[in-house]
Amino acid sequence: MFEKRTWIRLPRNVVVGHGVLGQTIEAVSELHLTGRPLVVSSPTPHDVAGKQVVEQFEDEGYNPSEIVIDEASFDAVQQVIDHASEIDAGFLLGVGGGKAIDITKMAADDLGLGFVSVPTAASHDGIVSGRGSVPEGDTRHSVAAEPPLAVIADTEVLAEAPWRLTTAGCADIISNYTAVRDWQLAHRLKNVHYSEYAGALSQMTAEMLVESADSIKQGLEESSWIVVKALVSSGVAMSIAGSSRPASGAEHLFSHQLDRLVPDGALHGHQVGVGSIMTEYLHSGQKGQWKDARDALAAIGAPTTADELGIDDETVIEALTTAHQIRDRYTVLGDGMSEEAAIEAATVTGVI
Ligand SMILES: [Zn+2]
Repeated sequence: MFEKRTWIRLPRNVVVGHGVLGQTIEAVSELHLTGRPLVVSSPTPHDVAGKQVVEQFEDEGYNPSEIVIDEASFDAVQQVIDHASEIDAGFLLGVGGGKAIDITKMAADDLGLGFVSVPTAASHDGIVSGRGSVPEGDTRHSVAAEPPLAVIADTEVLAEAPWRLTTAGCADIISNYTAVRDWQLAHRLKNVHYSEYAGALSQMTAEMLVESADSIKQGLEESSWIVVKALVSSGVAMSIAGSSRPASGAEHLFSHQLDRLVPDGALHGHQVGVGSIMTEYLHSGQKGQWKDARDALAAIGAPTTADELGIDDETVIEALTTAHQIRDRYTVLGDGMSEEAAIEAATVTGVI
């Protein structure tokens, strides 16, 4: 009996490049989305892209509405849901670096409406994924949400974002190496389902980014092109897998734990990058490829040490020894690291 089945949800229109923000209406009308558009942004994304999107809809007689949210929270998700119901919105657009997009995809999921992602920074792969993450108290919730029907990533806009957001996006991609290793390990040890296609795509995405490191430079619009394409590709790998496994392993658990311990810590991508140096060491040992991970991060100017993250050594060790408790996801951390082993891993790799 053959009983396997899969359901892959991908964005239908992925529009990337110089000035593509001007093609928002085309990308949306091609999806047969109808009714009033609700544009969700936060203050800076509103200025750099949100108001332009709203104007385009006005010019075409769509009668758009806009809501500018101040913070990523469940309250903000509820605000968007209430506003969308009030104006009887037909579909949603999330315009932002991550916060507004996460909130929009969660609201869209609740409302049962289509959602379009318009990233203004290439800072993490949430811009294309079907998962949203919102902080609450001292923790972050990652919840299933509506994946985007379309992604409109204007490299002219992305290139204007603070450079550290771009290097964070790069580091999030470089961490795919260890995420795939963790996934393969979980497959061998725990019989977790492994998708060859998704694993290979995720790895290849990281390889291509590392090979392009020379073209990833502040002030070069091409950098945004390279990074956002990698983020889309990584998102596609997650869609094929039907989970975040291709792009999220122990290095992500480490970062989530840092978020709990230091709520205003470093950027997500920067934290997972440093995490992946150490988890690569755990996979392959002292003579293994952890130096490649560190060198790739250093080449694009992402942090490689606790110091550069602005997080103290003790917190790094605490996060390493407790990261396995975060969620039921088997990784190289197994049932947890001892403090001595964590200090050894962080010291050998130069993280502390
Ligand atoms: Zn990530």
